[in-house]
Amino acid sequence: MTALRLAELIRKHQPCVVLTGAGVSTESGIPDFRSPTGIWTRYDPMEYATIEAFLRDPVKVWDFYAKRLEVLKEAEPNAAHLALAELERRGLVRAVVTQNIDRLHERAGSREVVEVHGSVRTSSCLDCGDAVAFDEVVSLLADAPAPPCPRCGRILKPDVVMFGEAMPEAEIDRAYDLAREAALLLVVGSSLEVWPVAGLPQETLDSGGLVAIVNQGPTPYDHRADLRLEAAAGETLTEVVRHFG
Ligand SMILES: [Zn+2]
Repeated sequence: MTALRLAELIRKHQPCVVLTGAGVSTESGIPDFRSPTGIWTRYDPMEYATIEAFLRDPVKVWDFYAKRLEVLKEAEPNAAHLALAELERRGLVRAVVTQNIDRLHERAGSREVVEVHGSVRTSSCLDCGDAVAFDEVVSLLADAPAPPCPRCGRILKPDVVMFGEAMPEAEIDRAYDLAREAALLLVVGSSLEVWPVAGLPQETLDSGGLVAIVNQGPTPYDHRADLRLEAAAGETLTEVVRHFG
C-alpha cells in the first residue's frame, strides 16, 4: 500500500528528483558512516577523513581508503539502484543527487547523477593535477600502501570531498537547481544531517514542491514530508517500479 502511494506521488508530481544517501548502498554491502555500526564508530573522522589529516599523513589516510576501495571493488548495484535507473528510463525520475561516492548509480544505468561529495572514480595529484582512474589506483595499491602520482610521485588524493574541503561548486549548484525545479523530491536512505544536502528539501518546499522520504531512522523533515516510509530502499523502490507495470 505504501509503495503504491509513493508510486502515485511520483506519477502526479513531475518532475521528480531523487536524493540518495548511504542507506541506498548498505544493501550492496557498503557500510554507512553514522549508524551505530557505521564506519565512524571504528574510525575517527578527524584522523581519517579531513583534508588536514590527509596533508599531514596521507599514507595513514590511505590505509583507511584502501580498505574502502577493496569493498567498493566487489560491490554491485542493488535493487534500489536498479529501480531508480529504471524510473529514469521511463521518464519518471529527472536526476539522482547523491551523497555516495561509490559510482553504483552510474553502474546501475542512471544517467543524470549529481555527486555532491565527489567519487572514487578518480584520484588526483595535488601538485601536478594528474588524475588516475579507480582500477589503476587499485593496482597501484597492490604494490604500495598509498598510490603515488605516475607523473611526479606525490601521493594521490581520492577525488572525494574530505571534511574541511570545499564542496564541488558546479555539482552543488546543479543539486540546488534540481531541488528548486522538483515537484517532488524523493529522499532515499539519507538522514539529511549533512550539508549541503540537508538544505535541499527546504529548497523544494519553498518552491512549492513536495517531499517524500524513504529512510530507516528519523530525519529533520519527517513532519514536513507528504509521505514518510520507514523502510528498506531496495524492496520499496522495486515495488514502486512494479506499480508502473
Ligand atoms: Zn603529480
